[in-house]
Formats: sequence, structure tokens, C-alpha cells
Amino acid sequence: MPSKRAEVTITGRRIARRKSRIAGAGVYACEPINKNTRIVDYQGELISPSKSDWRERRYQAKGMVWCFTVNRRKVRDGNVGGNIARFINHSCRPNCYSEVAGDTVWIRAARNIRKGEELTYDYNTGGEAGISCQCRPGCTATI
Ligand SMILES: [Zn+2]
Repeated sequence: MPSKRAEVTITGRRIARRKSRIAGAGVYACEPINKNTRIVDYQGELISPSKSDWRERRYQAKGMVWCFTVNRRKVRDGNVGGNIARFINHSCRPNCYSEVAGDTVWIRAARNIRKGEELTYDYNTGGEAGISCQCRPGCTATI
């Protein structure tokens, strides 16, 4: 586990994990980030969808979403071998988006992001995790 004050530099952009206004830990921009910048890649063990289903049920029971579906045959489990990207929260009005390139999942800036903003992207789970979204007051979505 990285320390709570850990900062990492990836592609020249600094981001940091801090307590989130949305839920649990979150990831914040330590400096302005330009639109479409590849901010960080979502790391984690590459596993099969069936293995992911089994693990994800245990994670979701704790209210966590760690598994990122890369394609029909592969899922990245951010809880095993993951990096700071796994702490980026879901939002229904996100400032980032995910881009799959081969087995790599990039989290990219959807617009210009100001220093100090929390990074978010749309998990696109279709409500599968059964977790109430807390991205903003009054949000009625289910992650
Ligand atoms: Zn929401």
C-alpha cells in the first residue's frame, strides 16, 4: 500500500491519492492537466471474466469496484498488483475517460482539469455492482 501522502509522476503529470469528497480514497490533480492527456494506466492482474466474477462478488460485498473489463476475455483486477488508478472514483459527470489500447487501460483527461480537482471517470458498470452513486448530492444512479 502506498502511503496516503504518496505522489507519483506519470507522463510528467503529478497526481496524488487523498481522502475523497465522493467516497473513501480519491485521486487528485496536483497540477493542471490538459484535455486528452494520458494521466495514468489502470494496472492490475490480468484475469479471465469468470475469475473476475468470483472476485468481484467479494469486493462488491464491501462496496468496492476493483475489476476493470478490458475486453471479452480479459479483466484487470486493480486490487491485485494495482496502482493509484484504482482509487479514481466513478462519477456520472466525469472529468476523465478510459481508453483501452491492447491490454493497457488509459485514464485520460476528458477536458482541461484544474489543479486540486478530483479525477473521476464513468465506470460504465450498468448498475452491476449495486452500489448507490455518491458522485454529487441527489445522484440516483447505481454503479
Ligand atoms: Zn452519480
